[in-house]
Amino acid sequence: MSRRPRSILPTVLSRRQALLACAGWFGLALIPHQQSWAVRSTVSNASSASASTGKASPLSAQAIKQLNQAVPGGVAVVPLGFAKEAPRATFKGSDVLVLAHQNKWYALVGLSLNTLPGAYQLSFVDQEPEKTDLALEHKPNIQSVLKQMQAEAGQLSALGAFEVRDKTYPAQHITLKNKRQVNPNPDDLARIRQESALQNEAYATFSNADPSNVLFDPPVKGRLSSPFGLKRFFNGEPRNPHSGLDFAVPKGTPVQTPASGRIILVGNYFFNGNTVFVDHGSGLISMFCHLSSIDRKLGDYVSRYDVIGKVGSTGRSTGPHLHWNVSLNNARVDPAIFLASK
Ligand SMILES: [Zn+2]
Repeated sequence: MSRRPRSILPTVLSRRQALLACAGWFGLALIPHQQSWAVRSTVSNASSASASTGKASPLSAQAIKQLNQAVPGGVAVVPLGFAKEAPRATFKGSDVLVLAHQNKWYALVGLSLNTLPGAYQLSFVDQEPEKTDLALEHKPNIQSVLKQMQAEAGQLSALGAFEVRDKTYPAQHITLKNKRQVNPNPDDLARIRQESALQNEAYATFSNADPSNVLFDPPVKGRLSSPFGLKRFFNGEPRNPHSGLDFAVPKGTPVQTPASGRIILVGNYFFNGNTVFVDHGSGLISMFCHLSSIDRKLGDYVSRYDVIGKVGSTGRSTGPHLHWNVSLNNARVDPAIFLASK
């Protein structure tokens, strides 16, 4: 897979180049994609990057602090030090989202619910980023330099290393009148297999675009009815844990995408009912399901807050609600981690 070069330190872009760069993401057919990203990068500083392109990195100090919840079903924000171009890192064989904050790169690593607690290490595909920390070089006071070096010793000695803590999720018991949704018949099973292959393929998508934002507003305004990670029992039988967040809102409530992106899958599925997948870029993907209607079609580009469908109760559902999944590097993670605090 070829990847576009990215940098925290682009050369000054002309207004036209900046417009072309935006158009690349939104797929305007008139402008060849390659041309839009052909702008190579060199020096200067990160603040001029946002000033010249008009596009700030979506990774704020607040986002780094909020998203770093390294537990099964969570996200690890892993500092990758300094490098001119974005380092390419993988976790369990999948590319991970890498974003800049000030002069440093950070990997945002999705940790699936079956991740065991312990020490992990990202793999670097091309080359490991430089361990030089620019901030250290400019510190005038030797004591503060030593202090910071101690604090960052772990990351300086092994870039891409991180620790996953344990987390236990509660159980939830659900009663379904439709027994076929608990124990599907052979025809249903064939359908389910086919549909899960399609959905797994969508989750594995890694497109070369940065997400518009990594802190989200909820896709509907309403009461959270089921948190992520619940160990589920349907009519007493253990099934997969709850992979997303449920909002109890009336049928017909508009569902707004929490970030820009492209619709990469739509369908009507046995368990998920009417479903829309939005690729926000670089392996960050939302899935919305049980919809009563789907308002966008496959391949559409959507902007943050665009309505992609309406809340319903299609598929395996006990009443109208929105089920929203967030996936990072093909790991389903707790969407609540991304919700901007009000
Ligand atoms: Zn749900």
